[in-house]
Amino acid sequence: MAAVAFIGLGNMGLPMALNLVRAGRRVRGFDLAPGAREAALAGGLEWADSALDCVREAQVVVTMLPAGKHVRAVWEEIASAAQPGALLIDSSTIDVESARAAHGLAGARGLLSLDAPVSGGTGGARAGTLTFMCGGSAEAFAAAQPMLEAMGKRIVHCGGAGAGQAAKVCNNMILGATMVATCEAFVLAEKLGLDHQALFDVVSTSSGQSWSTTTYCPVRGPVPTSPANNGYKPGFAAALMLKDLLLSQEAAASAGAVTPMGAAAAGLYQRFVAEGSGEVDFSGIIGFLREGTVAE
Ligand code: NAD
Repeated sequence: MAAVAFIGLGNMGLPMALNLVRAGRRVRGFDLAPGAREAALAGGLEWADSALDCVREAQVVVTMLPAGKHVRAVWEEIASAAQPGALLIDSSTIDVESARAAHGLAGARGLLSLDAPVSGGTGGARAGTLTFMCGGSAEAFAAAQPMLEAMGKRIVHCGGAGAGQAAKVCNNMILGATMVATCEAFVLAEKLGLDHQALFDVVSTSSGQSWSTTTYCPVRGPVPTSPANNGYKPGFAAALMLKDLLLSQEAAASAGAVTPMGAAAAGLYQRFVAEGSGEVDFSGIIGFLREGTVAE
């Protein structure tokens, strides 16, 4: 069974690595954060004292890091130390340009590589039900599939280098924009004297339907598991939504795509986070819209 190196054992990375251990893989982990070592060892991972030490014996390396600059720096460091023919998988959400640069670093050393960002959040990471959006060669995808199946339930090959990140920013641009539109509709309904449940019953079975209503309804009641029933505790924090919306705007600017709805959603989340709500679930933006301060 291939030995796996896992670099970046944060809110997402640790539960993902633990699912690999549960699937019978030998996993060696590394993270810079104090406390990461204890949590990794407690979960049955082996520990490495550096990224280089982590990858030396691994046939597969997974990185789960905050942003493009971290991925580029770590891949630059490990590419020369990885086993010949090893497969490098990056599951962080990063800009398309950095993802392509990372593929370039791996390719120059003859290594297989895949950008494989995820959707499904920390709950999906724990449950092993993530969706992986993959970019890279058919050979890299085939090699990665058994590994990704231990951490997710839907594994999609989106195309060549960077295609996974492209799919991720497109998906989350839709999510951000539909959440704002859904919140606006519930606030409008309140002003019109329309009951939340009545609006939910109509929208969830009509043409206004989306995941933002049916799974993640931003008002308390209709979907008992949504963060609205739990004080808007994330879930998916507004700061992370803002990160993804800014990545989609960056991608749109560099590709010459016109995305005014995406830009509007990014602007609203920017203001929501700036007022101190970065750690609130992203559906909590309904409170900000209800206050009406966005119109000023
Ligand atoms: P996190 O901040 O909890 O974890 C990132 C980890 O990377 C931290 O533990 C940090 O110490 C470590 N790290 C940073 N630089 C390092 C380095 N040079 N070497 C080793 N370790 C290093 O973040 P997270 O929530 O786990 O998210 C990870 C990625 O997944 C991000 O790109 C995020 O956008 C994406 N993502 C997160 C979610 C979510 O719900 N949290 C959902 C989908 C995608």
